Amino acid sequence: MYVLPLGDCCCVYEVIAPGVEDGKRIHIPVSAYLLRLDDDTLVMVDTGMNRVHIHEPDHTWRGQPIAEVLVPVMRREDSLLWRLAELGIAPQDIDYVINTHLHFDHAGNNDLLEKATFLVQRDHYELAKGNPSFPNQYWNLPALRYELIDGARTVLPGVEVIPTPGHAVGHQSVLVRLAESGNVILCGDAIYTQENLDHDAWDGQADPAAARKSALELQRIAEEEHAVMFYGHDRHQAQTVLHSPRSYR
Ligand SMILES: [Zn+2]
Repeated sequence: MYVLPLGDCCCVYEVIAPGVEDGKRIHIPVSAYLLRLDDDTLVMVDTGMNRVHIHEPDHTWRGQPIAEVLVPVMRREDSLLWRLAELGIAPQDIDYVINTHLHFDHAGNNDLLEKATFLVQRDHYELAKGNPSFPNQYWNLPALRYELIDGARTVLPGVEVIPTPGHAVGHQSVLVRLAESGNVILCGDAIYTQENLDHDAWDGQADPAAARKSALELQRIAEEEHAVMFYGHDRHQAQTVLHSPRSYR
């Protein structure tokens, strides 16, 4: 498993962890994950922000209220193409993509991965289709093939999706069983940072009560499975994880 760093978002921190660093603008990391299965199947979990933001940070949200809250910050090496090329991988080599959800920082490069099958929860797909909060230009494209999932499922050997609504209807997290590193849970935005757990701070989420319930359930599964949780946007955790081209095996 490779953790691909795909830039930052400069965020008003109340939207991430209310009550923790209110009034501050803080850079939060944006990541995607690449899994190479035993049979060399390549699976991505999320696809990061579109490379257009390298030269045009306000491309997606210009003129909209959300532009006051978050600004993408990407260098050229933060493009998904760059990160894949570092590993000798072309976009057409990706077989599957699991989108935790379809926000612009998680599905921003779906457009590049035309050979992949995209796995998304059905109720999330229905929510996001035609919805400007989930910029459709990056993922709702005729060339892309979506397979819609209902609930928890083992989708590929050693890869299980877990519904974690709250950040959005139909949000899903991913449990990955690694041979040497052990089990990991890719939370997506079900948990942005450890601070959400430490401060019981969920009011930045679309449905705070549902988000809290999902987060506690993930925590329970993590304990049961002895899994390490990778949070969606934790700047402190980002200092400690191995980033691509290093990997977890
Ligand atoms: Zn996010």
